[in-house]
Amino acid sequence: MIIIWGSRPYFRKNKAYQKGFCANCGRFAGFSSYDAITFFYLYYIPLIPLSKRKRFHKMCSLCSVAQELDLESFEGIIQNLKANSAEAVLALSDGEKTFLLEGDDSEPIDAATYLLGAADWLYASGNKDFCVSIVGQLAEGSGRFTQSMLLAYMRTMDGKLQEAIDHYNTATQIDNTRYEPYQYKGTLEAETKQLEAAIASYQQVMKKTTDGSVQLTIGLNLVEFQKQCKQFVEASATYDRLLELHPPLANDKSFMKGVAKVKKKAGLA
Ligand SMILES: [Zn+2]
Repeated sequence: MIIIWGSRPYFRKNKAYQKGFCANCGRFAGFSSYDAITFFYLYYIPLIPLSKRKRFHKMCSLCSVAQELDLESFEGIIQNLKANSAEAVLALSDGEKTFLLEGDDSEPIDAATYLLGAADWLYASGNKDFCVSIVGQLAEGSGRFTQSMLLAYMRTMDGKLQEAIDHYNTATQIDNTRYEPYQYKGTLEAETKQLEAAIASYQQVMKKTTDGSVQLTIGLNLVEFQKQCKQFVEASATYDRLLELHPPLANDKSFMKGVAKVKKKAGLA
């Protein structure tokens, strides 16, 4: 006889849905967020509550991992994100790129990056309207770069990847010194199998950032795309850059095997 039992969330409320890249499995997935109570069940009947009502934040459709937060902390996080988002918008309207978090003595943080992260949480709490109102307040002057970035991020969460790529393209036209739109756009191009476009975007990231850890992460993906597109001379140059950025890679046998193979195919070995 099979006894079907276990635990799972029941009586879901305040549901929200969005798409994006999973922080746990890294894949492009759908995410459900909701308030629920975890019950012990037997034959699919909820028998014993195992916890208070909690917020299940971004349950991934592919790996089923979610963050669980008590409702009070979750509400606190959302209020805080809304207050700081308003500060970020004010700073951008004043022509500033950075702002100070409320009640925090730390360094000024990048307003555009903050707003993208905040939008992700606000979507997951059903506050899509708040995001739309922020976008509306960024129509002028120096807010326009962030407006395009935010629109692109929101289209990504709506699952409209080509529209998102178009908004990132607009962002690169407004401010062509920043690497972020190329990074996000390249990731979406790779996801939609536009590998040559993704290569071009990631090459822009390598040129525009001086942050070694960003270059390393992007370069490791770039070299794989270049190999898939049989761009061996370019892949060889990327490998050289990666070894420059992180010399210990020379001790990694499988990495060096990849380097040797590409150099041979490029006619450089
Ligand atoms: Zn996942």
